[in-house]
Amino acid sequence: MSYVGPDFDPPQPRRSRRGPLTVAVAALVPGALAGWLVWQAVADDSGGGSAPQQARGATSSAAGSPTASSTGASDSKESSPTSSAPAAPTPLKGKVVVIDPGHNPGNFQHTAEINRKVDIGTNSKECDTTGTATNAGYTEAQFTLDVSRRLRTILQQQGATVKFTQNGDRSWGPCIDERAEIGNKAHADAVVSIHADGAGAGQRGFHVILPGTVHDGAADTRPIVATSRDLGERIAGNFARETGTAPSNYIGDGTGLDVRTDLGGLNLSTVPKVFIECGNMRDSQDAARLTSGAWRQKAASGISDGIMSFLRE
Ligand code: ZN
Repeated sequence: MSYVGPDFDPPQPRRSRRGPLTVAVAALVPGALAGWLVWQAVADDSGGGSAPQQARGATSSAAGSPTASSTGASDSKESSPTSSAPAAPTPLKGKVVVIDPGHNPGNFQHTAEINRKVDIGTNSKECDTTGTATNAGYTEAQFTLDVSRRLRTILQQQGATVKFTQNGDRSWGPCIDERAEIGNKAHADAVVSIHADGAGAGQRGFHVILPGTVHDGAADTRPIVATSRDLGERIAGNFARETGTAPSNYIGDGTGLDVRTDLGGLNLSTVPKVFIECGNMRDSQDAARLTSGAWRQKAASGISDGIMSFLRE
């Protein structure tokens, strides 16, 4: 199948990362650590056996389901400069979050365009990839847009300005270099790229991908490595707690964290940025979660809690 692309290839064994990742766990901030401890308490849930929430989002409650709003903060038609509405708590007021829904539902029909190579500093790489899908055909691109829209709703409720790299509103892409540039030009305080993996059956759980140090060509991640790690650790801890999902059993040595230097979307970022692979679409147990609207709402909530924790520091 042509699903597998560079963004989510089951990475080659990266056992050499054990050292840094182990250190990373030790360095977890207290908030994130609390999340991890909670995760440990619920980790038994991951092994299987537990009936997944009803698939297909039958219980999805539509809370945070995609709404018509596309541009976020500027929807207000009220021209009154001084609204008298009671002030809602807006702890993220003034903060800019860019959400990057991985892939694009239209990429499958635009393989020539997305296969074009773009410069990611360290080397050149395909503009974009199709992403993966569950065995039943629920695509990663559908998944990423749904989680991203739920995430946007939560962050906007907290007062953040939210921008998307794509909202299913263009026929393909954007390319990974443009995705990075959107975050950079927005001077985003945090960027999260939403994905789900396409690994083998039996490989389960989520992981957050952090930028490694790259200084080559147009890529220079040195200023964002530490802040991105902080962001990623907070997202991982909160995601585990909110979803009750265990970190990946096939990458990251159980930390739920991975460091990569081969992703253009990270290499070219000048602002704190991470990817999250929310689960493995090719595993039936993970797929049951990923196809549940209720679970996706928890996923969005966990990611937003991580972002909020990071931005309120
Ligand atoms: Zn992906």
